[in-house]
Amino acid sequence: MNKLDQPWSDKLRKIDPYVAGEQPENDNILKLNANENPYPPSPKVEAAIRSLDFAKLNLYPDAGVSGLRSSLAAYYNVSKDEIFVGNGSDDVIALSFMAFFNSDKPILFPDVTYSFYKVWCSLFSTPYKTIPVNNIFRINPDEYKGPNGGVIIPNPNAPTSIGEGRDFIVKLLENNRDSIVIIDEAYVDFGDYSAVELIKEYKNLVIIHTFSKSRSMASFRIGIAIADKELIGVLEAVKNSYNSYAVSTISMTAAKASVEDEAYLKEATAKVIATRDKTIKRLEALGFKSLPSSTNFILTAHDRLAAKVIFEELKKLGIYVRYFNLPRVDNYLRITVGTDKDMDRLLEGLKKILGK
Ligand SMILES: *Cc1c(COP(=O)(O)O)cnc(C)c1O
Repeated sequence: MNKLDQPWSDKLRKIDPYVAGEQPENDNILKLNANENPYPPSPKVEAAIRSLDFAKLNLYPDAGVSGLRSSLAAYYNVSKDEIFVGNGSDDVIALSFMAFFNSDKPILFPDVTYSFYKVWCSLFSTPYKTIPVNNIFRINPDEYKGPNGGVIIPNPNAPTSIGEGRDFIVKLLENNRDSIVIIDEAYVDFGDYSAVELIKEYKNLVIIHTFSKSRSMASFRIGIAIADKELIGVLEAVKNSYNSYAVSTISMTAAKASVEDEAYLKEATAKVIATRDKTIKRLEALGFKSLPSSTNFILTAHDRLAAKVIFEELKKLGIYVRYFNLPRVDNYLRITVGTDKDMDRLLEGLKKILGK
């Protein structure tokens, strides 16, 4: 952070922001550092954008995101007023912090988790308490109990890649009847349990999904919340007190086409899952141990070479992965699953680094 020395310096906000995976400008870089999908969006997304009436793009977008919400309601088998759409799930989570976490008691989340949660706590002055995951990086729902200001957990968790099932979520909800429980399901389409079915029974449950990972639409910035209509109403009120027109006409049109092409989503995620499972085995043959992944990334550690060294050597070869200089995970690399060809290049690079 810059040290400013001006008469108004004490009036400036001091905050350590979230740092995203680097976006290189060179085309020859293999980007495995932001959990983007290696496949393009559905061809129906391209067709929908092309069929937009250019002469109408002078108008503000539909602030209620009505067309997309109708498609989402059909897809998730919920009603339209149980769906909120925002400008990426980071936007939806930030608005959820403002809408749902307004207690003097701390909100709870795991010590090893999405590092943005702490940043929002700091931005919104939300007190928080982290709860350590166990020695194999699992979360114990019985440690999320007692008075708190709310709970937020990604399932599957990031960056551990570990997913938990229905019993886990029900336990967490039963332990937290008096708080809002947010489940950030950013990676759920890669084959794990989704708790959307529980929103009818638990009126305090908020599910958050993103179009950035499984739907290959990170550049469009679309994220959603699914919850009881009373909670969705509060989110709408907060959004309309801050930025009413967050979602662009182009993005909502594109997202609607993606939702209506379920076959493409299934096909693209199945390819990523198959590549992931093969890659975990190939990594193992090189001396890496990976956590069991329910996502489109692999958290892995080598038995001999430090993660930081491998990270730096891969970078020299034009292969970007993620390294976290954080307690408990600083000997792990987070590697996004690309195409089979991408993984060949990764494995070749690792063999070179390991002298194999
Ligand atoms: C990628 C990610 C997000 C943010 O996704 P956007 O919709 O691109 O803002 C939120 N939560 C988790 C756990 C993620 O991994």
